[in-house]
Amino acid sequence: MAEKTQGLAEGEGDRTGLASRLRAHMPPLVLGGVAALASMFAGLQPWQAAIGYGVYVAGLLFWPGNRAAALSRAEKKAAKSTALDFAVIEALDMPAIVFDRDTLIVHQNAASRLLVGAYPERAALSARIRSPVILDLVARVVARGMPESVEHSERVPSERWHEVRGAPVWTGAEPGKQLFVLTFRDLTEARRMDRMRTDFVANASHELRTPLASLMGFIETMQGPARDDEAARTRFFAIMLDQAQRMARLIDDLLSLSRLEMRAHVAPEGQVDLGHTVTHVVDTLKPMAKDLGVEIELDLPAEPVVVAGDVDELIQVFSNLVENACKYGQTGKRVQIIVADTEAEGAHVTVRDFGPGIAKEHVPRLTERFYRVDVETSRTKKGTGLGLAIVKHILTRHRARLVVRSKPGEGSAFSVKFSPSESGKDSVKEELYK
Ligand code: ADP
Repeated sequence: MAEKTQGLAEGEGDRTGLASRLRAHMPPLVLGGVAALASMFAGLQPWQAAIGYGVYVAGLLFWPGNRAAALSRAEKKAAKSTALDFAVIEALDMPAIVFDRDTLIVHQNAASRLLVGAYPERAALSARIRSPVILDLVARVVARGMPESVEHSERVPSERWHEVRGAPVWTGAEPGKQLFVLTFRDLTEARRMDRMRTDFVANASHELRTPLASLMGFIETMQGPARDDEAARTRFFAIMLDQAQRMARLIDDLLSLSRLEMRAHVAPEGQVDLGHTVTHVVDTLKPMAKDLGVEIELDLPAEPVVVAGDVDELIQVFSNLVENACKYGQTGKRVQIIVADTEAEGAHVTVRDFGPGIAKEHVPRLTERFYRVDVETSRTKKGTGLGLAIVKHILTRHRARLVVRSKPGEGSAFSVKFSPSESGKDSVKEELYK
């Protein structure tokens, strides 16, 4: 197979050599043709003119000196275009490695140096790439002279996926000295998204199936053993309503998330007064806080704090944080909310509770969909596990950050920090338009 590829390459090399010599000698070939025509007008027989022109052309193209000169010109041109090809490869953000038949490195671009490390000059490809899957691919591509791809994944230092493609490169310079290129297409992000989507569908189905199973169980009981038990039926109806409401909350939160995802890249247009918004949220949640025995303290700034944002979405954010602080920090009996705009932190809203707090290992995962420190506590408190995921999505759209600080036994503080460019202050606008 390897010999066949080489043979083909040489045949093509001869054709390319003849073509390049024809191109190199084009002016004398044309002039010779014109001279042959003129000599016929001067009385020479056409066959005499044709033979003369044929000898002239053969001499021009196949005389050793001329042939070598034309070949060396073609080689110089090919070397020049190879240098250009390498410059193009260097500029690509996709890792690419050029190697020869013996799998010795001819060129590697900057992106590949970052991915596999820098090869010493003329090192073997296997000096840095040890994956048998990739090395087998390389062997096949060199042997067959045909492009081929494989998928490669690695777990260390982090989980990554690549589509690795090997392909022959025809340089045209030196027949038989064929080069090959290995490229790496990063599939990591796409694979991660696939996994997230699958996990999400599995989690959402599981969350919906639990109340649904309970509803079906109660319906069957009421059709059978409890058919005539009025007291049991009244009790079951209350539980069924509770389960149906849980499903409705889940569906509302799922729809909220999907709407937010669709608008993720559209910046909000309105202006929001944080003091007004937080006061509205507190007024709405006061009855719930009272039922839980929690007192809400609100600390507002003397000057209005205005940020660019969507008022309904920011109400959703602060409602979620204040509701969580009342529910999960209930034992602390008070929740403190601070709205401020300081030199050091910019515009921000902090919701602090004095409840049990959150262990360190849970903090980075709180905004994941369906992540709960304790599933049962969340369910009894009518949680869906989607609240903080929704908060994160809204804040991303607002170019704002959620900072969580918590100490087990002392409570938690959830701060929403707006970036300076989202603040509606004139000074910021001036800076933007400079
Ligand atoms: P849920 O609907 O379960 O409340 P969230 O996404 O709002 O979902 O919150 C995720 C989890 O974070 C909660 O289940 C709870 O375990 C934890 N959590 C959120 N806020 C607090 C808080 N203030 N104190 C303690 N734990 C909290």
